[in-house]
Amino acid sequence: MTTNKQIHLVSRPQGEAVADNFRLVESEVPALKDGQVLVRHHFLSLDPYMRGRMNDSKSYAAPQPLDAVMIGGTVGEVVDSRHPGFRAGDNVVGMGGWQQYAVVDAAAPGSLRKVDTTHIPLSAYLGAVGMPGVTAWYGLVKICEPKAGETVVVSAASGAVGGVVGQLAKVRGCRAVGIAGGPDKCRYVVEELGFDACVDYKLHKDLKSLSTALKDACPNGIDGYFENVGGVILDAVMLRMNAFGRMALCGMISGYDGQPIPMQYPQLLLQSRLALRGFIVAEHMQDWPEALKELGTLVATGKLKFRETVAQGIESAPEAFLGLLKGRNFGKQLVKL
Ligand code: NDP
Repeated sequence: MTTNKQIHLVSRPQGEAVADNFRLVESEVPALKDGQVLVRHHFLSLDPYMRGRMNDSKSYAAPQPLDAVMIGGTVGEVVDSRHPGFRAGDNVVGMGGWQQYAVVDAAAPGSLRKVDTTHIPLSAYLGAVGMPGVTAWYGLVKICEPKAGETVVVSAASGAVGGVVGQLAKVRGCRAVGIAGGPDKCRYVVEELGFDACVDYKLHKDLKSLSTALKDACPNGIDGYFENVGGVILDAVMLRMNAFGRMALCGMISGYDGQPIPMQYPQLLLQSRLALRGFIVAEHMQDWPEALKELGTLVATGKLKFRETVAQGIESAPEAFLGLLKGRNFGKQLVKL
């Protein structure tokens, strides 16, 4: 019998999530039934959306059940298969959760997908060539609708989603400006990812200072904004939006512990005739193939760059996740299993 270490959610956060909300559990991997595949996970993806699933409140997705394996994207290798479409050694991406092994009903649509690691590293299928990359692509292409010569701004710019947004905007001939926390992240966004500028929001704590810094970084105003954070960052960007600007509301991580995020100048939506649209990437599956084709080609040819922060071992997942919510990650947060 093979032992499988798992992380379960055992309680719901009151305000901030804490390590005690999780528990390490050991179980035996069950024998496979017909149609099932056993996957050994190599990497687990940690993503901000998981914080929302920890709550038992109304949302676009059902809450994570208590005393069950935490939900999560995974990449790994098939070690045993009773499904004709998979065999031992196949590299696969799925939603295996916070555990070392998963038994997957491979016939269920979207449960398991084979991936080619010839030109794209396996872990990238959880980042730039996976859900975060498609999120960046969808919000930018379908909502911000960037045109050559326009200015696109993205918050959480050094992260898994934000880093891709700016690089895709550059491919489309735009000026790309990031907003990120601290000099190291800002330097990386400009020097490694090729953005035109990056504003350190930690240096500009109030609205006036942040919007002045954005004015300097965006001399022609802002046409497209990709929002990952909310709060004073959104207020500062809205002050610099050009008439008929488009804003993709992807995430509001500054409010994921449930605190209100007031918008200081909603009248700008009217005065600047802005379009603001929220989206959930999983509701746009029809666009994934086109997005993955572009993202895969750019990564395989070295034109789309990304960085990973890799925690070691399933035991480290809770702390790594709590760190992600506080900005301690640098690029895509993964756990090596
Ligand atoms: P990141 O890799 O960007 O990590 C999160 C980053 O958010 C941190 O590194 C930190 O960067 C920043 N951050 C955290 N707290 C704050 C805060 N209070 N104020 C400002 N910045 C903060 O995560 P992802 O790229 O995976 O996700 C980015 C966003 O996209 C999230 O909001 C997420 O929920 C959203 N998302 C939405 C999807 C959808 O379908 N709508 C799908 C996938 C992701 P820094 O140090 O620079 O502050």
